[in-house]
Amino acid sequence: MNTKKIIIAIDGMSSCGKSTIAKQMAQKLNYIYVDSGAMYRAITLYFLRNNIDLTNTDQVVDALKEIELDFRYNDQNNQVEIFLNEENVEYLIREMLVAEKVSEVAALAEVRNFAIRQQQKMGRKKGIIMDGRDIGTVVFPDAELKLYLTADNAVRVERRFKELYEKNPNISIEEVARNIEMRDYIDTNREISPLRKADDAIEINNTNLTPEEQLEKVLSLAHQVLG
Ligand code: C5P
Repeated sequence: MNTKKIIIAIDGMSSCGKSTIAKQMAQKLNYIYVDSGAMYRAITLYFLRNNIDLTNTDQVVDALKEIELDFRYNDQNNQVEIFLNEENVEYLIREMLVAEKVSEVAALAEVRNFAIRQQQKMGRKKGIIMDGRDIGTVVFPDAELKLYLTADNAVRVERRFKELYEKNPNISIEEVARNIEMRDYIDTNREISPLRKADDAIEINNTNLTPEEQLEKVLSLAHQVLG
């Protein structure tokens, strides 16, 4: 049996299927999956609840000191869920209110340093798959396998709309499209660690791939690295 463990970094714009493929790969390889976006979302939820003024650095720094994030495995649904100060917020952080604010929060240097430190710690033992916006460029620049996912805009909007509509039938497709467009804009244009493809990342456009085809492709890339 191959005991070599690597780090797999998956980056890309909003709703291009990063978490789906990351979870499937983690299951097949028996790796830990970390949704780095969930960390920025949980921090955003805390900031919203406590009316943190994003322009006030002292307030932001003090607020971060009060935040403890934790990923726990739920064996009822086989998912890893995020906890904010001992509260399971996995579902709350997917709400539009958080999505509307998260990119602004994630653009702050203090917030990024706070999250990145924890992400790098989680990767120390390798055997991890992390998805996000800066995983292959900043968090794990030495990751053995880096994937950069893309998909056509219309497909991304449709996918996210379906996902959100199941939980909230009041949501409109226009609202989802606007949010994705806004987040992509902020995420790719921010000053600190903007989203970009790492030079050594392999780009996969999954617009016309079935989930099975995509999984087969990325697993074969992982096995090539694992040897
Ligand atoms: O991945 P997800 O869409 O849940 O991420 C939510 C937001 O968190 C992104 O739009 C981005 O602003 C931020 N993010 C980030 N860096 C990461 C992961 C997410 O800035 N590594």
